[in-house]
Amino acid sequence: YYSSNTVAFLDGEFVPAGQATCGVYAQSLHYGYAVFEGIRAYNTPAGARIFKAEQHYERLHYSCKSIGLPLEYSVEELTRISYEVLERNHLTDAYIRPLVFAATPNMSLKAATSSNVLIAVWEWGKYLGDQLLRLTVSPYERPNPKAVPIEAKVAGHYVNSIIASSEAKGRGYDEALLLDMNGYVAEGPGANFFFERNGELFTAPAGSILRGITRNTIIDLAREAGIMVHEKFFTPEELRTASAAFMTGTAAEVIGVASVDDISFDTPFQQTIGGMLSSHYHALVTGQTVARTARVVEPQR
Ligand code: PMP
Repeated sequence: YYSSNTVAFLDGEFVPAGQATCGVYAQSLHYGYAVFEGIRAYNTPAGARIFKAEQHYERLHYSCKSIGLPLEYSVEELTRISYEVLERNHLTDAYIRPLVFAATPNMSLKAATSSNVLIAVWEWGKYLGDQLLRLTVSPYERPNPKAVPIEAKVAGHYVNSIIASSEAKGRGYDEALLLDMNGYVAEGPGANFFFERNGELFTAPAGSILRGITRNTIIDLAREAGIMVHEKFFTPEELRTASAAFMTGTAAEVIGVASVDDISFDTPFQQTIGGMLSSHYHALVTGQTVARTARVVEPQR
């Protein structure tokens, strides 16, 4: 993620990434009390462009608010700093990782009264690779939205992601597919899930998922292409009637699904709606096309 000349932003300064550290009594370290974002910049004809920076930093603000963590930087400041971190590292195609955390030594369960901000960047290929994924329904459910603000990107929620992903890999699959507390398909550990049936797309509604910015982009691109998108609950059994499936995320981008347990999808990915939207997505993020619609992410409270 970094070498001796990598620069990161930490609390108002640009510092060598290796020196961006925090103490072991940090409240965030003990309780997973931190929030983060996953953002990508792409090399476009106009230079490095951060894709949907505003939506990502609005979600970061929403995440902070939902766990009572103060955030002193505006969306505009965070965006400007992100561009500067890219520039200082001479990167145009990169993953950007902002982290808001409480570094103050504090072992209490009181909400923090101040926060620290890290913005790190690194080159990162498609997070889940290029090969079609073999998924398995996880024995771990997504966290109950009545227990934690599931639409917020809270560090502690990712323990659920890590154990689900490891469990799936331990059984020989590429990735997990998690259900919500009612047994409906929710999402992957770090990506949203779509399936296709009769030329239409289906994905889980808001409620038990992180409403991905890529998910929104894909919904917009599909509707622009005249494809119906249904945000509705469905069980894993319903996937028997699907012709194809794919996952979406900033890090994963758009990646096809070969199978979910014993249900396999045989259409070559390039011939599916997901395959087509994957090309549209790539053209959009690299600045070869412009979106006709601009859907704003409005997290639910
Ligand atoms: N779900 C989860 C649990 C995630 O961690 C991510 C990655 N942020 C996503 C979905 C996809 O979200 P986005 O498209 O905003 O990256």
